[in-house]
Parts: sequence; structure tokens; C-alpha cells
Amino acid sequence: MSQNHSLYRNSVYMLAERFFIQDEGELLKSHAHKYNFDILFYSKMESYIFAMHGANDDDLFVVDLDVLHNHQAGQKDKSMFLRDLLKPLPENHQYIYLETEKQSSRYLLQKMLLDTNCLAYAEKPFSSEDLIDNLFNLFAQRKRDDLGKVLFLGDSIQLNVVTFAEHNISVKHHTNFQTLHTEVKRWLPDVVVIESAMFAGAESIAEIVQKNIATDPSLEIIFLQTDNDAALSESAIKAGFDVIMLHQNNEISTAQLINRINKIRTNKNLISKDRATGLLNKIGYKKRAQERIYEAEKVDISLAVVIFDIDKFKTINDTWGHHFGDIVIKRLSMFLGQFLEEKTLLSRFGGEEFVMLFWNADHDQVIAKLNEMRVGFNAIEFEIAPGQFKQFSISGGVSFYPQCKTENALFLQADAALYKAKTGGRNQICE
Ligand code: GH3
Ligand code: MG
Ligand code: MG
Repeated sequence: MSQNHSLYRNSVYMLAERFFIQDEGELLKSHAHKYNFDILFYSKMESYIFAMHGANDDDLFVVDLDVLHNHQAGQKDKSMFLRDLLKPLPENHQYIYLETEKQSSRYLLQKMLLDTNCLAYAEKPFSSEDLIDNLFNLFAQRKRDDLGKVLFLGDSIQLNVVTFAEHNISVKHHTNFQTLHTEVKRWLPDVVVIESAMFAGAESIAEIVQKNIATDPSLEIIFLQTDNDAALSESAIKAGFDVIMLHQNNEISTAQLINRINKIRTNKNLISKDRATGLLNKIGYKKRAQERIYEAEKVDISLAVVIFDIDKFKTINDTWGHHFGDIVIKRLSMFLGQFLEEKTLLSRFGGEEFVMLFWNADHDQVIAKLNEMRVGFNAIEFEIAPGQFKQFSISGGVSFYPQCKTENALFLQADAALYKAKTGGRNQICE
């Protein structure tokens, strides 16, 4: 049905000691599948390197140092020899090294690993769950696909906009403190930076932004202070600023802000994705949908939102089991993924419900496309028993912007339409 070879989005290539990890291979794999990645095991350096040719950019590579040690019995200076053993690993990738507690306690050995394309290292033993959790975090750190946003209030400090852009971070300047909180609400920045020169007269600004119930609770408000004045720092902290950053020069402030935003983006990435399908979850969807509406308003474009729900899913679970139900959900997520275009959003809202947002949505074209999706999913044959196939259906409810003005209004309208589709006999799209 799709061009994907695997049900899972990413792979972890693992060169691992047979007795240590591979005996737990099935367990590790099943944990990994819940996080939308697969694990491929190798026990020989040659086959490992060969397999890496088929890897994607986003894949991860794990090397258990014990595998290498097994090749070098009797050597005295193990850390020196390890360097040679690591040499064959292609340099265009980074590696996660698994080592013993004893190995990891040696500073020089750690340093040598850092010099050998080290993405991370992990100390054995660890539980399968812990290893999978940590690998998932690494995937999340690498996939900072969305734009970072800095809202900057000030007119004397010049942040390096080009460096920000290289890190996929956009900086928006604002000079009127009285409208800052409105801009925060509209543009949804990751951090707000206020230079100290703007503080006099605007002392309440941090609190005004933060006390809005709709403000993203992870939003950081940073006080960028040009001179080292402790009394001023103190009043800024008391006024509700989260961080006091001493401005020494533009390069340092720029680099420091980039580091902070990268951490914030990683955290947001972790909470905004559904782990089983890799799609946006409700939190991630809502934020991006608000951003799309903000953009659509500016460029005067229409949007459509659809909620899809699998028909009679409880019966699927009850008849063929929860695991089979999960596979149907997974397949639907991959099927819908084929319809993604640049500005389309696709999210798993919960259970077997998916929400999509279409950009520049012509009414008739959207309805036609949704029906194409409905019919396409209905055509997929699921093997419920050897040689025995069954098809399932979905219903959808759709709403449009600008007829509905907010993310919430769009959702409620689409939900009402979905209800109509269900009560009207299912396997249909209603508006
Ligand atoms: P309808 O046609 O009206 O949608 O009927 P339905 O049986 O699909 O009803 P509903 O949408 O309310 O049921 C959703 C069910 O999905 C309830 C819940 O047990 C099940 N479910 C929720 N999340 C998951 C999941 O992650 N995996 C599996 N296998 N089942 C799930
Ligand atoms: Mg449902
Ligand atoms: Mg359902």
C-alpha cells in the first residue's frame, strides 16, 4: 500500500554482544515498536558496516564495546587498542557506545570515544525500557523539524539573525511593550527576550504575559541585561522574569539563546508527538493549528479541518484483540500520511481518532479528497487469519476556516459533523 518497507519510521542499527542484548532482542524490539522505531541487530563489524549503507539520515547507530573487546583478548592497553577497533566505523555517522561501568569510569577512554564520532554513551546494565526511552529521546533531539521563535523586545542590542536562521530560528523584533502580550498570544514564540533598556516603565510585562491562562506554560521570559547591576537583576526576577542573561556581546547572547531554544524545542517535541505513530498528538496539533490560522488570516487563505474516526472499532478490538486493533490504527496513520503536503497537519488525537488540517482548502476539492481517503482506507485488506481478509471503514466530519474562526470552533464544528456521519450510517464524510 505505501512505499514504506517497514511499519516503523526509523531504525536503530545495533552492533551488540550476543549474550548481553540480543537474547533480549524480541523484548527490545517490541518496546521500540511502541515508539515507532525498529531495531536491527548485528554481531559482526563487517555485516554491521554493510547494513549501514541502507540507513536513513535519521537512523541511529549503537555499538556495544564488548563486541570489539571479544576480538582483542590478551591485549594490555585496551583503550589504545579499542581506538583501532573503532576505526572501521564509517565517519559520516555518529555512534551511541554501550560500555561497562568500569570502562565508563576511565576518563581517557571516555575522551577517546568522544573523539570517535560519539553521539552518546550508555553504561550497562540498563533495562530494555530505559534503553528504548533514551534512544527515543535522541530521535526527538535530532528531529527539531519545526521553526524556533524568539520574540525580542528592544532596540539597542543586535542579535545575530543570520546565525539564528542557520538553526531554523526566527527572530521577531517588537518595540512597543504595551502590545507585547498580544503579539505573544498571536505568534506563539518559544522565548520572549526583553533587553534591560526597555524595563523602566514596563515592569509588569513579564507577569502580564505569564498570567494569561492561554499562554504556553513552557514559555520562557528572558531579561537580557547590558550591565552587571545586581539591583536591576533583582527587580527583574521579582517582576516575574524567568532568566537573567548578562549581555556581553551579540555573539554570546545569540549562541546562548540558540542553546536554550534547542532544549525547549526538544522538550516540546517530546510532549507533542504520539509515540506509537510518530504523528502529532493533541498538544502538538493544537499549537500548530493555531499557527496555521494565524498565517491563514494574514495571507487570506481558507483552511479545512477533518476528524476521522474508525467505525465500530470496539468490535475490532473485541473480535481480533487489542494488538490487532493497534495494527489497524498504525496502518491508518501511515495511509493518511501519504496525503501529507507541505502545510498539512496530521495528528492522532487519541485512540482511533485522527485530525487533519488542510491549507488553502477549496471546499469541493477537500470533500473529494476526504472521500478518496475514506474509500482508499476501506480498500485495504487486513489479514485477520491466514488467507482470510477483512476491510474496515472510517467516518469523517469536516469544518472550514474562515467560516469557523478559531482552532476550537473548527474542532467543535468538525466533531458535530462527525457525529452526523456516525448516526447517518458511518463510512461517510459529513460537514
Ligand atoms: P463508532 O463507529 O461509533 O466510532 O464505534 P467505535 O466502536 O469505534 O466507538 P469509539 O470510537 O467510541 O471507540 C473507540 C474505542 O477504541 C474505545 C477504546 O477501547 C479503543 N481504543 C482507544 N485507543 C486504543 C488503542 O490505542 N489501541 C486499541 N487497540 N484500541 C484503542
Ligand atoms: Mg473514537
Ligand atoms: Mg470509532
